[in-house]
Amino acid sequence: MVTVIALAAAPFLFKDKIKEMIAKTLNENVNANIAFEDVDLSLFKSFPKANVTIDKLSIITNAPFEKDTLLYAGETNVTMSIKELFKGEGEAMNLESFSVVNGIVNIIFNKDGIGNFDIALKEETEKIKLFIKEIPGVKAIHQLRTRSIAGSIFCDVHVLVDPSISVSEGHYIGQEVDKRLIESFPDITDVTVHIDTEDDELINPSYNLPDRNTLQKILQKHWHDLLPETAIKTVVFHYLDGKITIDLKLPLVLSNQVDLEARLKKIVEREKFITDVKIFYYKFVFYFYSFIYILFFYILFVFLVIC
Ligand SMILES: [Zn+2]
Repeated sequence: MVTVIALAAAPFLFKDKIKEMIAKTLNENVNANIAFEDVDLSLFKSFPKANVTIDKLSIITNAPFEKDTLLYAGETNVTMSIKELFKGEGEAMNLESFSVVNGIVNIIFNKDGIGNFDIALKEETEKIKLFIKEIPGVKAIHQLRTRSIAGSIFCDVHVLVDPSISVSEGHYIGQEVDKRLIESFPDITDVTVHIDTEDDELINPSYNLPDRNTLQKILQKHWHDLLPETAIKTVVFHYLDGKITIDLKLPLVLSNQVDLEARLKKIVEREKFITDVKIFYYKFVFYFYSFIYILFFYILFVFLVIC
């Protein structure tokens, strides 16, 4: 009984992992856009083998056959030993059988005799991929596209960075990728770098979250009698995994308020997309220097008036 429950539950546990692995493996190893609607894992369909069904798989080619459908398959079935499901990221999975139902393959050749089915990643693209991954600050890459026009390579890539760094550091890493690629690959003349803070290759979890203005109105409504307006205006919002967390910078004097952190969190967590509030206290050193400056100009002003 326990085994049956475990077998029945496994597809739910593995489904997302399988979906991610399939999308990654396919897209990282070919020069084409591979998309599918859904993935289903069954441990019964081809028992004792695991059966993965991919729904509505399509392969859309890149230049020179831009946006041509090379293959469309209503249902693709792949079987493998159950132990393959436990392999870690980056490990190759051994597949045992592969079959397609309702498939259409569209093969064409251009005037240079090149077929649209030649979607294997070129050696150069593979080199570029490894090169970018070694640049400090780059955690991973996806959707690397290279287009070769009259001997020049145009490169477009999504670079995943640490989501806790600042926008300017992210921008700096993007510039480094651009600069180093152009310096190291003579054929590359143009680079477009998209800085990602989360992997948006499959889904965009933060797509429908509210913007800064909307959020600040919400915070103002909840926090106006607890915090100064400037503190609310300078909050940092982190949009990750479909949720928002807030970094709040407050002057050290406010740390004396009893349970401030707990009160702020409690109010704001009623908003379903806000999951956490972190408070950082700082000393008001700035005010001290401002005071000195104001005093200096005041004395100067009085001095000039008297004279
Ligand atoms: Zn991306």
